[in-house]
Amino acid sequence: MPLNSSNEQVPARVRKISWSGSAATGRRPGSTHGGLRWESVPWAARRSHLGRRGLAIGIDIGGTKVAAGVVDPSGRVIEEARRSTPGNDARAVEQVIVELVQELGRSHRIASVGIGAAGWMDLDGGTVLFSPHLAWRNEPLRENLQSLLRRPVLVTNDADAAAWAEWRFGAGLGESRLVCITLGTGIGGAMVMDGRVERGRFGVAGEFGHQIVVPGGHRCECGNRGCWEQYASGNALGREARELALRNSPVAYELLKAAGGSAENITGLP
Ligand SMILES: [Zn+2]
Repeated sequence: MPLNSSNEQVPARVRKISWSGSAATGRRPGSTHGGLRWESVPWAARRSHLGRRGLAIGIDIGGTKVAAGVVDPSGRVIEEARRSTPGNDARAVEQVIVELVQELGRSHRIASVGIGAAGWMDLDGGTVLFSPHLAWRNEPLRENLQSLLRRPVLVTNDADAAAWAEWRFGAGLGESRLVCITLGTGIGGAMVMDGRVERGRFGVAGEFGHQIVVPGGHRCECGNRGCWEQYASGNALGREARELALRNSPVAYELLKAAGGSAENITGLP
């Protein structure tokens, strides 16, 4: 399927207008996207949800850093702040988020907070089911953060948030469908299909980084072996460089020198 459809194939943008169908199943007859109904709206008529609710803080929780930004209704980042991710302590990650919101909230009136988390979310968006790189296991992150921040909080997968942002404001502007790959500690992935993030039946669709590309290969943090992110992520880059340095490979001479002569100092991350 071509990512870049011809003009005739590009539908107008869509927005959520109501729930319909069975509350028990969350689906309407004939829908493959759950119980949401959508209508087409022309570009010019689209209004930003942010615009009606003032400034928001967007927070990206990755495997190595927590990055936060104050965002205006046009998607512009007004101010940024960041911290290192305390990777093995879920409470410490929440505390870092609180600190960032307090820091940015000093000079801006913040109405709501959006979280992009490097983890697999349930369909409801309240619980992080699992994170390969962080300490979350069935973590009720939205509830925890709403009580700590005393503001409306939206939590979603980090790659889903990135895909949505690219569709709304960036590389996907004007397209009806896009695939987004995020490269960092691991590899994240997400799809926007006809104006919505396609999350699949269980909420974890588009995890391209955990497709097996080398059967029986390196063990992945997700539990499987040979996932793509074991061969092409920041972590993978660091591992390969360390292995080359330890073997005293000529291709790693310069790298080893830059790392102070110790292979363990090579991380593959900025
Ligand atoms: Zn994996």
